[in-house]
Amino acid sequence: MTGILYHEDFVTHSTGMGHPEQPSRVTAIVETLKKEKYNGRLVWDGPRLAAEEEIEYIHSESYIKRVIKTCESAPDYLDSYDNPVSDGSYQAALRASGALLTAVDGVIEGKYTNAFCPVRPPGHHARHSMAMGFCIFNNIAIAARHLKNKHNIHKILIVDFDVHHCNGTEESLSGDNDILLFSIHQHPHYPGTGMSSKLYSHSGGVLNVPMPPGSAEEDYMKVIKGQLSDQVNMFMPDFVLISAGFDAHKDDPLGDILLESETFYRMTEIAVEFANMYCDGKVVSTLEGGYNLDALAESAAFHVDALLEAGK
Ligand SMILES: [Zn+2]
Repeated sequence: MTGILYHEDFVTHSTGMGHPEQPSRVTAIVETLKKEKYNGRLVWDGPRLAAEEEIEYIHSESYIKRVIKTCESAPDYLDSYDNPVSDGSYQAALRASGALLTAVDGVIEGKYTNAFCPVRPPGHHARHSMAMGFCIFNNIAIAARHLKNKHNIHKILIVDFDVHHCNGTEESLSGDNDILLFSIHQHPHYPGTGMSSKLYSHSGGVLNVPMPPGSAEEDYMKVIKGQLSDQVNMFMPDFVLISAGFDAHKDDPLGDILLESETFYRMTEIAVEFANMYCDGKVVSTLEGGYNLDALAESAAFHVDALLEAGK
């Protein structure tokens, strides 16, 4: 079974008119996953809130205090006009990180084979003491630390196929050589990082693969079936986390990559195969970007289809 960790708090984080990171992103996904074809196949679970000390796995106490204060004076911005907050944003951000923690615990306890968290705010640009690129707390990095601190699972593969480089995740975890962080992203593009890799002899580290604008499915699959597979087969992960951004879709307004909705099925299928091979299929995936609502909902459904296929 595949778990879906969703909560209405995700729509109370309001970013204002005209901002691409809108509450309708998650409601579009949820509406699609509530369709008849998914009846009885998904486990819908209400995620808990992350505790402040869990957010501190990655972020400074002073930053958390600043997030609380800024949300209290909302509408306001965190660090840049990219990151507007409303009075519900702090709770939404805690719930988003909490969704991944709930998902990780659920997978380890055997409640679900794998899980998808359609959360907002997203997380992969969030830095130690700074909001960035629509992200407040780095949900996936917090989940990786939770795997280590709570479950003693150290060898973690993180696959990030969002069109933007996961600068926050890399910055937070790159000193941690037990983790293999793979990012495939458009370059040149926001935020401008992710040009070089740093791999260790035991195969952990950071594998960044920048792709030129106009790249399509075959270019992506070549990297995933080649470079990434070779690295993963040396690394042999004990858990797989996915930063699932769907903004490399050909119809997305914030990227120039030409993936089809079905590409997200095929990429997920391979990530799941890694998990089946090395860690009994343990995968937790979280929503990052994706800004064309139709393309986002369709791509996320293909992503969940691949998780379901594996989780039967
Ligand atoms: Zn993105």
